[in-house]
Amino acid sequence: MLKDTISPRDAQWREALRKEKTARERSATPRVKMTELAPDYRVTCNEEVNCGLSASQAYTESTRCLDCPDPQCVTGCPVGINIPGFIKNIERGEIAEALCVLKETSALPAVCGRVCPQERQCESRCIYNKMKKEPVAIGYLERFAADNGVTGNEPERPVANGHKVAVVGSGPAGLSFAGDMIKRGYEVTVYEALHQIGGVLKYGIPEFRLPNSIVEREIDALARLGVKFVKDCVIGKTLSYDDLMNEGYEGIFVASGAGLPRFMGIPGENLIGVLSSNEYLTRINLMGAGHGGDTPVPAGKRVAVIGGGNTAMDSVRTARRMGAEKAMIVYRRSEAEMPARVEEVHHAKQEGVEFMTLSNPVEYLADENGKVRAMRVQRMQLGEPDASGRRSPVPIPGAIDEIEVDLVIVSVGVSPNPLIPNSFAGLDITSRGTIAVNDDLRSSIHTLFAGGDIVRGGATVILAMGDGRNAAASMHQQIQENSNR
Ligand SMILES: Cc1cc2nc3c(=O)[nH]c(=O)nc-3n(C[C@H](O)[C@H](O)[C@H](O)COP(=O)(O)OP(=O)(O)OC[C@H]3O[C@@H](n4cnc5c(N)ncnc54)[C@H](O)[C@@H]3O)c2cc1C
Repeated sequence: MLKDTISPRDAQWREALRKEKTARERSATPRVKMTELAPDYRVTCNEEVNCGLSASQAYTESTRCLDCPDPQCVTGCPVGINIPGFIKNIERGEIAEALCVLKETSALPAVCGRVCPQERQCESRCIYNKMKKEPVAIGYLERFAADNGVTGNEPERPVANGHKVAVVGSGPAGLSFAGDMIKRGYEVTVYEALHQIGGVLKYGIPEFRLPNSIVEREIDALARLGVKFVKDCVIGKTLSYDDLMNEGYEGIFVASGAGLPRFMGIPGENLIGVLSSNEYLTRINLMGAGHGGDTPVPAGKRVAVIGGGNTAMDSVRTARRMGAEKAMIVYRRSEAEMPARVEEVHHAKQEGVEFMTLSNPVEYLADENGKVRAMRVQRMQLGEPDASGRRSPVPIPGAIDEIEVDLVIVSVGVSPNPLIPNSFAGLDITSRGTIAVNDDLRSSIHTLFAGGDIVRGGATVILAMGDGRNAAASMHQQIQENSNR
């Protein structure tokens, strides 16, 4: 659904802009290339790899957008951002206005502009694909507007409506829910189990892809609006559901994510030097293990990362920055089936990561101290498509190699955090361990709503954020209805 309350297509300025250049002129312009740090430099540090667009690059790219009457890019965006609306504001030089258009539907545009899989979403529906041209760089432009459209004006504190709500978890779902509810006048308290706010945006996605300062900016903005953050508070342990209700909250939004790592159940997974991506990345990103820290991680020289998703790419690229001489992705299907973003795979390759596709570890072998020294890898071939629609990997009989490794990072998926599902009596849980909700994101407990990865299993930032917004709308309606009775 296209939100066009701020910059409708029939606005005079937009009609005038369309006449300034013909579609032929616009489509003749090649897609802009974003500057990146050189691979041999960036593996020595944690600096952000993508450098963003300059103002003139952003203008040029914005002129490529044809401002289609029926923009299909919008249908590819899980939260229905008015994409031509924000891009045309960039073209006319109104960057703050472009950001307003983005903020209508997206609580975290600076984050989404950096980590959303645009190539599979909005950009995959751009009209240019049909014209056999490269799509408009919507993600780059979103990032540009989010980074450059901030006015510095202090947001006005909303008038309190006298109602209190709580949020469990401070990832993108929890933050976007909190933002929408505080703007409606609610007193909002976010409870976070960890000692930092941000969820995966902080503990998972590394600094070289999403700098913490970007996430902090969004958190500061919420705090200035009046959102209260309580850290180091594990709901279900430190405080129970009854404790929260006794605090007078009229609604609770659970956004506790899917942070429970999965393992493959193969021999040797308990050896020293075999750990999950979650542990590896959290220790480095949140606990300073990259610079010694209280909980250092082993700095392997020959590192194997098992899996082909974003988490695997983040881990293997982190391993290169931690000094790995050989850093390998071990993935059971071929590169075409990899779920990771294309850009991440490309960047990993540039940084010297080796891709061992059609390969599946079957055992880890120990040295005399119980530390991993090698892995046995089964070579695979592709068979018929499985339930996911991807061709399934089939072992090639007898094709097993032994490969020397000193650190293995297992990144084969995550499950929902089980604490809330296990500790809130009367909460319906699905067979996958996620919280069951209806279309309004309401659970079997009337006052409890849920969204993000705790409902979807491992998904994406924008979907989590969209759930936060939808749950806020539903909870608001419920509280209003109750108080009008
Ligand atoms: C390494 C990595 C890279 C990723 N890369 C991308 C990407 O490039 N693009 C993309 O779109 N998606 C990516 N994802 C997925 C995306 O980050 C998640 O889908 C998204 O963060 C889910 O948001 P959420 O708010 O539901 O949960 P989370 O971000 O997981 O936040 C949940 C929060 O709840 C807290 N919590 C849990 N239990 C409790 C409790 N009992 N009490 C209090 N607090 C609790 C947790 O500590 C956590 O802070 C990536 C994920 C990982 C792990």
